Amino acid sequence: MMKKCAIIGAGITGLSAAYYLGQESPDFEIDIIEASDVPGGKIKTYRKDGYTIELGPESYLGRKKIMTELAADIGMKDDLVVNNTGQSYIYAKNKLHPIPGGAILGIPTELRPFITTRLISPIGKVRAGMDYIIKPKPMNPDVSVGAFFRRRLGNETLENLIEPLMSGIYGADIDKLSLKSTFPDFKKTEERHGSLIKGMRRNRRETKSAPKQGQFRQFKNGLQSFIERLAEVLVDKGVTIKYNHKVEAINKTSQGYEITMNGETHFYDSVIVTVPHTVFKDWFKDGPLDYFQTMKTTSVATVVMAFDESQVNNKENGTGFVIARNSDTVITACTWTDKKWSHAAPKGKTLLRAYVGRPGDTVVQDHDDAAIVKLARQDLDKMMEITGEPEFSIVTRLYNSMPQYEVGHIDKIHAIQHYVSTHYPDLVITGASFEAVGLPDCISQAQKAALKIAHR
Ligand code: FAD
Repeated sequence: MMKKCAIIGAGITGLSAAYYLGQESPDFEIDIIEASDVPGGKIKTYRKDGYTIELGPESYLGRKKIMTELAADIGMKDDLVVNNTGQSYIYAKNKLHPIPGGAILGIPTELRPFITTRLISPIGKVRAGMDYIIKPKPMNPDVSVGAFFRRRLGNETLENLIEPLMSGIYGADIDKLSLKSTFPDFKKTEERHGSLIKGMRRNRRETKSAPKQGQFRQFKNGLQSFIERLAEVLVDKGVTIKYNHKVEAINKTSQGYEITMNGETHFYDSVIVTVPHTVFKDWFKDGPLDYFQTMKTTSVATVVMAFDESQVNNKENGTGFVIARNSDTVITACTWTDKKWSHAAPKGKTLLRAYVGRPGDTVVQDHDDAAIVKLARQDLDKMMEITGEPEFSIVTRLYNSMPQYEVGHIDKIHAIQHYVSTHYPDLVITGASFEAVGLPDCISQAQKAALKIAHR
């Protein structure tokens, strides 16, 4: 007899979990239960008048192959596009500075560009060079990304170069962000080579022969087109997607699970939970799962502004910039989207896409759309000359959307995974609150969850 599996949430994690479960075993009747009326969760693309604009996540890292493979599996290989490469900048000390050549996530691997950058003072550069003599220290059991890089390269390199690049990915406070949960390879490099810079230089030499190509991937009709195709393939394979069904509770029974949604209770043999922890924390409070009661999030908003190119005089020729947190701005980063992605805007238009929202601030909560556009515009005016009003602007708020992986996170997650597998048979909880937040990482976690359910 077919077993019934409920997958809760039709974001990228839920949809991919359904895909891999169906592929791995023909024994499941799969229902995806989704509170909203569309698939995709945080992924949303604005497609109109020749624009293809991401309102949530923007692209994915191409070296994480699973997303490209899934795209090929569902017939979207030819839709993939690669970003245009170009100079990226850091806004610090009231000025845009080119990111020094050879810096990998801010860690310098080439001497000349680091020596000549104005981002770091001479003393700061000497301090960074001490990385060659500072002995590795055991990560015992975890440290913050900030503490690790401050010790190796000094405060200035951390604050002006590394922090703006790394903390944006997680919308996090670098001095609370867990190294072990986010960038453990830097610790391994330090330990293997005795110096981070030395190790990074060696790694770089080994991979340098690869042709220079953009590292991000997208789809010519936006990330939402990938989601729509994935949902279509699932429905063709017999998966039911129950839109407008909000899960309210999950109860374990001797046979399986009772799921209450829209006031009705349904029985399932197995369950994959992919909603954010801010939602499932109300369903699971026992044992180490109580961690999710206190796990923090950051709220962010994307602010898109479209101009005629004659309105924007941008002296820099690049794809965008991030902002050092010691700068006095509301925005945290901005992409010159029409430069980075050829498909994003019609010819003759300039598309700016900025982020607002830092850990601990309430900009996203406190202001209406018009006020957020105004604040973002005031900041952008410091970095380029803009005349007149945008032809249109879009503010997209993503409340509590960035789970904060604070020091100790990944060890707690491993304890939770062990607890769930022993106390909740045939149930897996996964998604961005767990091992990693990137889109391909969500797909990998979904695949792991599906294999676990299929082979229980
Ligand atoms: P979600 O997308 O949150 O999906 C969860 C789904 O569950 C939603 O559809 C929701 O409606 C549904 N749901 C919620 N409650 C219930 C309920 N009670 N019952 C039923 N359904 C429910 N990653 C990258 O790789 N590249 C990027 O450029 C990038 N940029 C980002 C920018 C921003 C602003 C943010 C917030 C994240 C970004 N990320 C990026 C991370 C990535 O977008 C997320 O980690 C990923 O989309 C999470 O997918 P998910 O399926 O796990 O969760």
